[in-house]
Amino acid sequence: MEKDPQTLIDKAKSAMDNAYCPYSRFAVGCVLVTESGKEYTGCNIENASYGATLCAERVALGKAVSEGERKFSTIVLVSNGASIPVPCGICRQVLSEFSDLYIVALNVKGDKIEGNLSDLFPLAFNL
Ligand SMILES: [Zn+2]
Repeated sequence: MEKDPQTLIDKAKSAMDNAYCPYSRFAVGCVLVTESGKEYTGCNIENASYGATLCAERVALGKAVSEGERKFSTIVLVSNGASIPVPCGICRQVLSEFSDLYIVALNVKGDKIEGNLSDLFPLAFNL
């Protein structure tokens, strides 16, 4: 990871403060870094129709892709709970569409899981 990890963690925490999670109360924030160094934040956005819920990763990715970005180097995720917010299966698949980026995920205590997407999600579907 080229950027200062603590700076990215702080940005992910700021994004987490905007999480809309009245159902799970599990707030997640992230910062997605492009290969050129631009940053896009995201937070989870829950919905009364649970299946319509958006994870923080896909929010950040949607912001970035809609701005023309296609290549990503890193995503840093934080949560407000004891669970480490590793990307769910849907987000791993969606992220894999673009880049084998480096993932860092931390819980509220600072427990961490990190590694390349291809290690966390081998054999992603692609056409
Ligand atoms: Zn997800």
